[in-house]
Amino acid sequence: MPWVAEDMCIGCGICVEECPVDAIVMEDEIAKIHMSDCIHCGKCHDVCDQQAVRHDSEKVPDEVKANVAETMSFMEACERYLGDAEERQKCLNRMIKHFNKERMVAEKTIEELELLRNHNRRT
Ligand code: SF4
Ligand code: SF4
Repeated sequence: MPWVAEDMCIGCGICVEECPVDAIVMEDEIAKIHMSDCIHCGKCHDVCDQQAVRHDSEKVPDEVKANVAETMSFMEACERYLGDAEERQKCLNRMIKHFNKERMVAEKTIEELELLRNHNRRT
């Protein structure tokens, strides 16, 4: 999924013109992608000569940091609202289960998509 590095965008508007589904708007002279409208065609990435349209994988460290911070805030809340320090640990275990499930969903989805790719190659 594409995203715009705000400090690299010069507000030229080329990506806005090239997006086939009008998913990009200019806000304060910086391009902003409406992900709910984006069809992941990659055009904006290809036309931006400032390399301001970035790939999703670059956000992995930030997303991990956000997940850990969110888990810690849930742990605090569980202890506060349930009044028991043991609830912190239970909450942590539930969050580990949650992210394991996310991993399984991602792995299974990739398997299915690879099957689809192989099928498409044959037809
Ligand atoms: S093409 Fe690049 S620099 Fe121009 S508005 Fe889009 S993201 Fe910004
Ligand atoms: S990936 Fe395609 S649809 Fe999505 S914002 Fe870029 S140009 Fe538009």
